[in-house]
Amino acid sequence: MNEARHHVVVVGAGFGGLEFTRALAGAPVRITMIDKRNHHLFQPLLYQVATTALATSEVAWPIRHLLRKRKDVTTLLANVTGVDRAGKRVLLDDGSAVAYDTLLLATGARHAYFGHDEWEPFAPGLKTLEDATTIRRRILLAFEQAEREADPAKRQALLTIAIVGGGPTGVELAGTIVELAHDTLRGEFRNIDTRQTRVVLIEAGDRILANFAPKLSDYANKALERLGVTVELGRAVTRCDAEGVVFGDKQLAARTILWAAGVAASPAAEWLGAKADRAGRVLVEPDLSVRGSPEIFVIGDAAHVLRPDGRPVPGVAPSAKQEGRHVAATIKARL
Ligand SMILES: Cc1cc2nc3c(=O)[nH]c(=O)nc-3n(C[C@H](O)[C@H](O)[C@H](O)COP(=O)(O)OP(=O)(O)OC[C@H]3O[C@@H](n4cnc5c(N)ncnc54)[C@H](O)[C@@H]3O)c2cc1C
Repeated sequence: MNEARHHVVVVGAGFGGLEFTRALAGAPVRITMIDKRNHHLFQPLLYQVATTALATSEVAWPIRHLLRKRKDVTTLLANVTGVDRAGKRVLLDDGSAVAYDTLLLATGARHAYFGHDEWEPFAPGLKTLEDATTIRRRILLAFEQAEREADPAKRQALLTIAIVGGGPTGVELAGTIVELAHDTLRGEFRNIDTRQTRVVLIEAGDRILANFAPKLSDYANKALERLGVTVELGRAVTRCDAEGVVFGDKQLAARTILWAAGVAASPAAEWLGAKADRAGRVLVEPDLSVRGSPEIFVIGDAAHVLRPDGRPVPGVAPSAKQEGRHVAATIKARL
């Protein structure tokens, strides 16, 4: 590859970064794609891995393989820890750096525990393949332990699964876990009846799926309850530990707690010293660049982008892809 060519560095091979790279095909640039994982992950189906319906290989693909035909792209497995804006370099955790002419940060989001990181060991979130297999292991082991548990109270705690957060991920998890317990595993145990499993969805707000129309929240609530999920509204969780979860004046003994409540952007704003919203998303300019650095762009879940009506663009895959295409068109026009 011609080293003199304009060098575009992409951090993150998620929906935004990959779409950007795809849309930049044919441009007179060389591209370096950096990701701390070797695979692109289809996050929308992660809950199916967590609930045994899909294998990990069905939702993840090696980035290197996806980009194998693109001779203009070099893929690097590396963890980015910072950006040297003045020196136009991306900093890696091994102390090395990669120079860029144009930089695209598409590093996504992580889950957040509202300042209670100590809850994480008891209440894993669902963001990575490892998260999904951890959740799957915990759910299946809880049934195994319940089968061998003689104490009825302990057995019921093992057969109680609390899900914190009534957004799309919490709703998907609740629905599939209750189906797993009540249907898929039915008849496979001798000492427990898996239909006794309690799946409790805890939402601090007054309705689940708060970003959707109230009618749809109501429909989803009823559908979950019909499946056998208990939906608890209006009380925020104040404690998670090995015994269970506390929300409002209620204490629920649950050996499996899953976290689907908070989202925080990747630390891109910290790397750039840029302004961010409360979730850590970089406040980008209308062309998705970073104020003061027109050669740096942030897209997808890492960026706070406003729609013409002033409402934020939602953190979903189609937005990340659309933003990727938009930045690719901007770069092509500039070149
Ligand atoms: C469980 C779940 C279900 C979802 N369901 C849906 C759905 O049904 N429909 C929908 O539209 N959206 C859904 N979403 C949201 C959607 O997945 C995101 O909006 C989308 O992935 C955002 O794309 P992105 O490119 O910004 O980030 P991501 O796709 O998250 O990609 C970020 C990439 O950056 C890499 N990275 C992060 N930090 C670093 C670093 N320091 N150094 C190097 N690489 C780094 C990561 O490894 C990752 O590959 C769901 C999300 C989750 C978690």
